[in-house]
Parts: sequence; structure tokens; C-alpha cells
Amino acid sequence: MNAIRIGAVLILLSIALQGQHTPTPASAISGTAGGIGGVSGSAGAAGSTGTGAVPGQTPVYRINLRVHIGHTTLPVADLRSLLEEINFIWWSQAGVCFEITSTKDDTMAPDGFDIRFVPDVPDPPGANGVYKGDHNIWSRDYPNLAPASHPVTHRAARTGAHELGHGLRLSHYNGYADSADSLMSSGTLGWHLRNFQIQEARTRAQQKAIPDTTPTNCGAPQVN
Ligand SMILES: [Zn+2]
Repeated sequence: MNAIRIGAVLILLSIALQGQHTPTPASAISGTAGGIGGVSGSAGAAGSTGTGAVPGQTPVYRINLRVHIGHTTLPVADLRSLLEEINFIWWSQAGVCFEITSTKDDTMAPDGFDIRFVPDVPDPPGANGVYKGDHNIWSRDYPNLAPASHPVTHRAARTGAHELGHGLRLSHYNGYADSADSLMSSGTLGWHLRNFQIQEARTRAQQKAIPDTTPTNCGAPQVN
């Protein structure tokens, strides 16, 4: 009950701040992991991002994402919260979110992206994740990732969000002082995006997006 009420307050706060493009101080929402119109992310991520209950950019580009869970060993509750964290990572920074549905079969979606969560990525063997095409994205259930100063909560959220970054045409960001905290570095728990990456990803996201860009939030992941 309480989380729902907090969520409602945050939605109003979000609407109120919309016109100002003013980031909500993290302190204003710390401790409120409840949904923000479906983008609840993680308390850890929300607490460290410095942005708040408003999207990082507008308009918000919403892209369909079909999640294949026929082989995952992740408990459904973890799956839901890691998918919300993927949305938080992309929405809070880049104004991109994924309208998520799940399936247990291998039928590919007609648009957007398809991602599979699996105990082990078959190709290349041992990989944490791989992007092979918009409808051929893989993430390990429990990837092995190096530390970051501002880590994600769910490891698979980092790998999923990273591979979707490749889907949005981003390349790796390795060898820089802030690489460990970067979403696009290889093999870390980081989730931050630099401004140039946000602009690049939004260019591709606009082409992939659902035509209606009125909503500023994404829906809660539909995981069954
Ligand atoms: Zn990569």
C-alpha cells in the first residue's frame, strides 16, 4: 500500500517537474524504491544517479522488448526487478525505456528487441552477454562482473542494459578513468552513460520507438 502511495506521489512530482527539466535531488527520492509509473529501478541506482523521478531526456522513446525466459534460472521476482532496473538505467539517463513482455518460446518479436536470459550463453561460451542482432541478444542469469564505484543492484540488469546499449548502436567505452562506472565498459557493474552516448543512443532509439511519444514513463514489465 505504502509503496503504491509513494509511487503516486512520485508520478505527481514527476509531472510537476516536467516543464522545468530540473533533476530531482537524489535525496528527495532516496529510500523510495516504489514504482515511478513502472520505472522503479533500484534504490541503489536511484540513490546514486543524481537524477530523480523525471526522465533524463524528453521525449521518452519507448521500445518494445520481448524477454525470453523459457530457460532462465532467475526467480520471477528477481527477473521483474532486474528488468525494472534496466528501464531505470536507460530512462533516468537517456529518456529511453523498454515496454517489456515475456515469453517462454523462441518466437521473435516483429519490432523492437528480443533478449534471452539463460544460465550460460552458448556462443561465445563463457560470455556474460552478447548482442548478435536486434532479435538475437543474450544475457547470462548471473554474469561475472568487476566492481564499480556505483554498482547496479542486479548483475543481469547491467548485462542486459549493456547489450541493449549495443542494440542502440553504442560501442565499448574501455580504458578511460571512468570506465568502471560506465554502462558500456566491458565486464563491470557500472551503469553510467556519458552525454555523447546518450545522444547517439537516442538517435537509434527514435527510429526503433513506438510512434506515440506522449508518455514520459514506461509500463511495468509484464512477466508471466
Ligand atoms: Zn559489450
